[in-house]
Amino acid sequence: MAVENMWEITLARLDKIMEMLSLSEGIKKYLREPRKTIEVAIPVKMDDGSIEIFKGYRVQHNTNRGPGKGGIRYHQDVNLDEVKALAMLMTWKCAVVGIPFGGAKGGVIVDPTRLSSGEIERITRRYIYEIIDNIGPEKDIPAPDVGTNSKVMAWIMDTYSMGKGYSVPGVVTGKPISLGGSQGREDATSRGCVYSILSTLKVLKIEKHTLDIVIQGFGNVGSNAAKILFDLGHKIIAISDVTGGLINKKGINPYKLGEYISKGEMLSGYPEADHIEGSKIFEIECDVLVPAALENQITGSNAAKIKAKIIAEGANGPTTPDADKILNENKIFIIPDILCNAGGVTVSYFEWVQGNLAYFWGKREVNLKLRDIMEKAFYDVYDCCVVKKIDMRTAASILGVSRVAEAVVLRGIYP
Ligand code: NAD
Repeated sequence: MAVENMWEITLARLDKIMEMLSLSEGIKKYLREPRKTIEVAIPVKMDDGSIEIFKGYRVQHNTNRGPGKGGIRYHQDVNLDEVKALAMLMTWKCAVVGIPFGGAKGGVIVDPTRLSSGEIERITRRYIYEIIDNIGPEKDIPAPDVGTNSKVMAWIMDTYSMGKGYSVPGVVTGKPISLGGSQGREDATSRGCVYSILSTLKVLKIEKHTLDIVIQGFGNVGSNAAKILFDLGHKIIAISDVTGGLINKKGINPYKLGEYISKGEMLSGYPEADHIEGSKIFEIECDVLVPAALENQITGSNAAKIKAKIIAEGANGPTTPDADKILNENKIFIIPDILCNAGGVTVSYFEWVQGNLAYFWGKREVNLKLRDIMEKAFYDVYDCCVVKKIDMRTAASILGVSRVAEAVVLRGIYP
């Protein structure tokens, strides 16, 4: 299978949208190019006394609507093209949900599962030190992504705050609650994803009470989506992670599965379901398929096998353009990433607001505000899709790109 270049895919999709919007050549050039690309070497003393050099990136794609916002990924396959693509997707995502941020993303080439907590802490602190002048509550605000979590965010906040000489909670989101994290941030991406699924059921007039759900990925996004959907009475009939997949048509309890994994066991060994190959996850008949792992998972070679009614993209960029074509022909309703997984950045926005004001909200308030924003964004995209007779991904991109283009035009080109 050819490895798809996410940056080329993202640019090709942008070109198509900009053509539809009839943007000027100058604005097209402006939107294609990230504003700032930073590459750093991160020297770290390892536990055995040796010195390793890791490579890290931070890309700020666009900051016309507000400071850069985007996660930091720790993964062995991180590369600059991927970080650039993810930063660009963040720009459109923030505009789709109407929050005042631009798009950014960071990454370090490292497999965190092979390192000790101390080594990950030293990588984090040195990485942040190397990019410190480029981040901050008014400049660029990182958050968790694949391979990073609230613990890593706490180290980022501490490193930045030590440099300033006072606590700066607004520099990062996804922090532990005790350090100014927001209620509801941990499962916000998944909750937003579920709100989008519920809106989809309404517009498609699906009244089935117990949906069959299939989820790829059992990390932050996948496991929380599984738990929220399970709590709503739906059935998680299959789930996978990097170790393989599980199927049980009677339903898998994600809480029990989470407990099993937390004891150091592998998902694929869970006894209350049958083991399947990870790739088979896309072939199972279901109502909703939630890809919540990595990009380029649904491709031209497996899209035709998908038998879901709805695909809710928890992950960023899980579907390639070849696959999109097949899924659209097969009338599968796609809730695109820049809408479906925008709950995370939305509650990150709430966290940033709360941190800057030092005034904190309860979980109910956070979740209600999240629901309002997600529902409005869903119907904005859906209305555009109906009026213009286009698919949901194109509609979401049209909204996101046009809002950013408008901001660029209104601000003008400096000097
Ligand atoms: P995570 O590191 O917590 O979990 C990733 C999961 O994917 C793990 O269960 C891992 O085993 C699984 N995985 C990796 N490769 C796989 C493969 N080939 N097949 C099956 N499973 C595989 O990461 P996360 O934070 O849950 O992020 C998942 C996706 O959601 C990413 O695309 C990320 O960019 C996106 N996302 C995350 C957030 C957030 O708030 N964390 C917000 C928006 C979007």
